Amino acid sequence: AGVATLADTTPSPTDPRLRLWRGDITTLATDAIVNAANSQMLGCFVPCHGCIDNAIHTYAGVQLRLECARLMTGQEEEPTGNAKITKAYNLPCRYILHTVGPIISGAVTQANRELLASCYRNCLRLASENGCHTVDFPSISTGIYHFPLDQAAQIAVREITAYLADHPEITRVRMVCFDSRTRAAYAAALAAQRAKAEEKAAREALLERIRNGAVTPDDRTSLREIEQVAFGKAPSSKLLRDLGMEATPEKAHALLLKLGVWDNQVDPWPAR
Ligand code: ADP
Repeated sequence: AGVATLADTTPSPTDPRLRLWRGDITTLATDAIVNAANSQMLGCFVPCHGCIDNAIHTYAGVQLRLECARLMTGQEEEPTGNAKITKAYNLPCRYILHTVGPIISGAVTQANRELLASCYRNCLRLASENGCHTVDFPSISTGIYHFPLDQAAQIAVREITAYLADHPEITRVRMVCFDSRTRAAYAAALAAQRAKAEEKAAREALLERIRNGAVTPDDRTSLREIEQVAFGKAPSSKLLRDLGMEATPEKAHALLLKLGVWDNQVDPWPAR
């Protein structure tokens, strides 16, 4: 009881090292858990507050506040997007990575998105530098900091996946989802990421068949759609660029004729 195993987690379809788990991050025996801290970085001071910062400081014990105070000596605030590492004291993990997520009031800006991304990147970098192999994240900024959950989930999944691709030393990253709404948002972000990866692979395969002169009837249909030829639009030069060819409307026209995608010989650019 109270012990979470990998069998309880849902792996990402694009990298099984990234997993989703619903539960309380303070219960996890892992190399490092991430705390969504505030910029004072001394722990939440509101008694019985429901934030993750309060849960982590409560269960780690007062020594954690003392270490945070030492780390923050001479520094009033921790900049948003940065991260610091401490020991974990009474918690079953080895380290705590403290990061300050962006606070959202009004519309999300590109700067907010970049700061949230850097929270994930900086925590993972600190984990690697400190010999951690397993890292567990909460959904940073989506509680009282009000980052819209769906967007935050997409950013988290994208950043973690990108980091894992270059860092084999990290063997498992668990996204800890505290409630079912958060769990659903992260599951949707993983599904969207897989759909995007499949779309990219399908296009690569299509380009390869064009290069090899091996387009199928299905390819012709999808190329017509991609190029909007069926709607009488001029074929794009993107296709040529992706094939590494000189991108001019004439070349695009000639290629589509050759592939049998464009079957009428009428000049599609009469205004030229
Ligand atoms: P922020 O200020 O970054 O928004 P919050 O603590 O308000 O931080 O919430 C961040 C996320 O952490 C929310 O999804 C919240 O439900 C979740 N959370 C709160 N307590 C825990 C916990 N013990 N374990 C895991 N996640 C938690």
